[in-house]
Amino acid sequence: MIPITKPLIGPEEAEAAAEVIRSGWLTQGPRVARFEADFAALTGSPHACAVSNCTVALHLALLGVGVRPGDEVITVSHTFIACANAIRYCGAEPVFIDIEPIGYTMDPALIAAAVTPRTTAILCVHQIGMPCDMDAIMAVAREHDLPVVEDAACALGSEMLHDGQWQPVGVPAGDVACFSLHPRKVVTVGDGGVLTTRNPELDARFRLLRQHGMSIPDTVRHGSPQVIFESYDVEGFNYRLTDIQAAVGIEQLRRLPEIVRARRSLAAGYRERLEHQLPRVAPPIEPNRARTNWQSYAVRLPDGADQRDVMQHMLDRGVATRRGIMCIHRERPYAGARRFPLPASEAAQDRTILLPLFPGMTEAMQDEVVGALSGALRH
Ligand SMILES: *Cc1c(COP(=O)(O)O)cnc(C)c1O
Repeated sequence: MIPITKPLIGPEEAEAAAEVIRSGWLTQGPRVARFEADFAALTGSPHACAVSNCTVALHLALLGVGVRPGDEVITVSHTFIACANAIRYCGAEPVFIDIEPIGYTMDPALIAAAVTPRTTAILCVHQIGMPCDMDAIMAVAREHDLPVVEDAACALGSEMLHDGQWQPVGVPAGDVACFSLHPRKVVTVGDGGVLTTRNPELDARFRLLRQHGMSIPDTVRHGSPQVIFESYDVEGFNYRLTDIQAAVGIEQLRRLPEIVRARRSLAAGYRERLEHQLPRVAPPIEPNRARTNWQSYAVRLPDGADQRDVMQHMLDRGVATRRGIMCIHRERPYAGARRFPLPASEAAQDRTILLPLFPGMTEAMQDEVVGALSGALRH
């Protein structure tokens, strides 16, 4: 069986977790602080704040940029449902616009028409690792004086051309970027998330809200020779990452360059095989402004091919695939949400499938995947 993905994780992570358990300090503490410093250095971002997962990172980011009940947030439907849920957690409503047919990210040309007096933010998504056109998105955002949150759940290790320079996703071109450390993403700690920002006040706000709005963190009280009483001046949340997870994350970040190299080489391997053996299947295209980490590899099936049949056929041959990224407006909680025509989003969900791609995947496995796809299409 060839799985859709498999984390690259080993004895270093196991030992790091065991060391934390032996230390006696298990929740958010010194390892989280170290992980945040490493994450900030790796992405070139001035601030990185670790939380329990990317969904709550999105919640804090939207609250931080000022999204309030009754507001509207412009986003894409073609993304994981967590994006819309995080908007609703703020009491706000998502407004869905379409994606570009190449790259499958938010179409900046469609933003302006969606702006109303109730719009308070834009939430764009570096979908399956592919960076959005941030220069174009920021130009519209500035024109309308709107903050921008980047959902970078899948995009750690991706790079974008911004103001003429290559930079890692993570120094937000917008106001905040949110990352996920779920096993389906490029590095993992089980479950975890990170917010990066250039803005020190926003970073301080995230740190306050992730720990119950507590004025003085437990780490400070623990180390103090004086008795300290904390206060709770705002309504906060428990969105902490644990030190056990952070210790795993420190090791995972060390592996990131190797992981991204491997993924890029596998993507090149797929492209070559598809071009030679299956010219009717369209491989994904990297726009000139983006270098993706290939968190997922989405291919477009030829007209007439039935997505479910193709996937079932491949599964019968021992190859796991996934359908294209979901469209949120097709799910019950968001069926009534305000939206613009979404033809590219719907086509991407219905016409693409994701192929297995993970470090450690061999040439023989790639041959097998393309062979199974070819067999499924002949059938
Ligand atoms: C995975 C994912 C999320 C949610 O991340 P969690 O860490 O699982 O909460 C949000 N947005 C996108 C685009 C994702 O792919």
